[in-house]
Amino acid sequence: MFFTFDGIDGTGKSTQADLFCKWLAERGLEVVRCRDPGATVLGERLRDILLQSKDDTPISNRSETLIYMAARAQLVHEIVRPAVKAGKVVVSDRFLLANVAYQAYGLDLEPQDIWDLGEFATQGLEPTRTFLLDLDVDAAAERLTSDTDRLERRGKEYFQRVRDGFLTEARNRAEKIVVLDAARSIEDIQIDIRCVAAKVLR
Ligand code: ADP
Repeated sequence: MFFTFDGIDGTGKSTQADLFCKWLAERGLEVVRCRDPGATVLGERLRDILLQSKDDTPISNRSETLIYMAARAQLVHEIVRPAVKAGKVVVSDRFLLANVAYQAYGLDLEPQDIWDLGEFATQGLEPTRTFLLDLDVDAAAERLTSDTDRLERRGKEYFQRVRDGFLTEARNRAEKIVVLDAARSIEDIQIDIRCVAAKVLR
């Protein structure tokens, strides 16, 4: 099983993923938690390049997309596929859907191109379910306190396009992507997540 959490920053992905992993472990499941980009040595190095907060190396939109794909290819190869094969439950903070939302809808690339590149990078491995945390862009920004990274500096219109892109893709893939209203309490959101997961795990 492979569950992913997505949505713009500040929607509560890591909060919900933490609680979800705890619940899975309490049910006796072996859980592997990761983040995309990241989790592998290569992935973390690429993450630094992508999210650079000080350095300002020019990165074109297509280069950016391919760096994400390289990090993801390594994540799937090293961590996700072996863990799933061994019967473990993998929980990832973000995955391919984020690239579709941020790079296609956000930066005006073609969504299908990103899905196709993603299929190459992951060798077709898809999440069992994706939990999409959806929240108004201003409300999400208000929850964030840390310094902005390279992507966070892109401004409100960008994040609005990203949010809309997430929702469009969720409508197109309703059987796999579960949209959750992230304006609710942490507990209420978690109940929905567990409800969906319990059905899948049964
Ligand atoms: P993300 O991983 O999506 O960036 P976080 O889980 O780090 O989001 O949450 C960002 C901030 O919002 C944290 O301070 C967290 O405690 C808070 N938060 C998370 N979920 C909720 C919620 N449902 N209601 C109010 N605050 C929340």
